[in-house]
Amino acid sequence: MLMSRTFLPVMRETPSDAQIVSHQLMLRAGLIRQTAAGIYAWLPLGLRVLRRIEAVVRREQDRAGAIEMLMPVVQSADLWRQSGRYDAYGPEMLRFADRHGRDMLFGPTNEEMITALFRDGVRSYRDLPRTLYHIQWKFRDEVRPRFGVMRGREFLMKDAYSFDLDEAGGRASYDAMFTSYLKTFAVLGLRAVPVRAPTGPIGGDLSHEFHILADTGESEVYYDAALDAVDLSDPDAPATLRRLYAMEAEEHEKVLAGAGCPVPAERLAKRRGIEVGHIFFFGTKYSDAMGLSVQGRDGAPVVPLMGSYGIGVSRLMGAIIEASHDANGIIWPESVAPYDVGLVNLRPDDAGVRAAADDVQGRLEAAGKSVLHDERDARPGEKFATMDLIGLPWQVTVGPKGVAAGTVELKRRATGEKAELSLESALARIA
Ligand code: ATP
Ligand code: MG
Ligand code: MG
Ligand code: MG
Repeated sequence: MLMSRTFLPVMRETPSDAQIVSHQLMLRAGLIRQTAAGIYAWLPLGLRVLRRIEAVVRREQDRAGAIEMLMPVVQSADLWRQSGRYDAYGPEMLRFADRHGRDMLFGPTNEEMITALFRDGVRSYRDLPRTLYHIQWKFRDEVRPRFGVMRGREFLMKDAYSFDLDEAGGRASYDAMFTSYLKTFAVLGLRAVPVRAPTGPIGGDLSHEFHILADTGESEVYYDAALDAVDLSDPDAPATLRRLYAMEAEEHEKVLAGAGCPVPAERLAKRRGIEVGHIFFFGTKYSDAMGLSVQGRDGAPVVPLMGSYGIGVSRLMGAIIEASHDANGIIWPESVAPYDVGLVNLRPDDAGVRAAADDVQGRLEAAGKSVLHDERDARPGEKFATMDLIGLPWQVTVGPKGVAAGTVELKRRATGEKAELSLESALARIA
């Protein structure tokens, strides 16, 4: 992609309406623009990152055995009247009427719809277990949308729903998602802490939120400092993490008021967290309410047990930036970078340099790398500042000296390390 052809409105100054660094950088790097309170347009560069985060989430869901589908954003109120949540949900639900006066809503989540679809599509125990998911826009009329895409009103969520015949099956589906979430966040370059969340009337230990620890997080998390030392690549990591204490402040207060804190004072850590995922096993709550039952092995009806599993796909972009930036801009993990390489042509007015830079772009692309090529007529300083701001993992610079010497300059964005190399060596490093 040529810089002169894309739409990348970067900003030099820090926008005054953005309070946290990820929001500031998303605006400055031309990833998003707000179009109404808590509602954002995804500009070309931001959309590329969003699609890549989505791809990681999708791949890990598929690996965990979940089946992708797509449910609509607009839902009928009747569906929600069946579960009793239409009245219970409150002002976060955006409601409207269609031309026939039918009550509609913009979906904040999909338990009702998936339960109805599954109910109408299955007959027997042989159709279970199943976990279905979709990646779709949600709308919640948040009382205080803020921090950019972290708390938007319109946001992209991956939500999965599991259906099982018995408690043991439901637990296995939950465990599979738990493990898959840790993997998903790790691939995105994030260390997520699973936090025990309230389970409501069903009780038990089957609800967790996944938090990215960051000073700008909206939640407060108390946890066993031993969590920090857990090696996530260890196959036992999921079990270890689940054993170690971690609670949001409100729940932690309840523990203190009850049995007291199970973690010795010197090991109790407190940090702010960004909730990037939430998984929940809720048994027959929706299957009962919406009349989902299948014929069991012995012919008697069985009411399936359900779980739901959310990931904030658009919120993750903010969380990744909170976790990975420096004073000059974003540092994208390779797994989600909008382009692999930023190519800077120092002298686009020089035919020899232009030919060399075009050749570098062609060779990189032939090697399967995506390239953003800055061939604009602009000062080198401005080009380097833009490349640092948008945070592509590699920068390759082509200028007259290098062309004469047969080299390019290769810079690693994460470390700032630079080297003069032959194009072949540079390609080998990037590969
Ligand atoms: P929060 O506590 O931040 O309001 P939630 O508990 O209401 O989130 P869930 O219903 O658990 O959210 O939804 C699943 C996931 O969707 C959350 O873990 C979060 O990552 C994401 N999410 C929820 N609300 C928003 C929002 N307003 N903007 C962006 N992402 C959101
Ligand atoms: Mg909420
Ligand atoms: Mg929450
Ligand atoms: Mg939640």
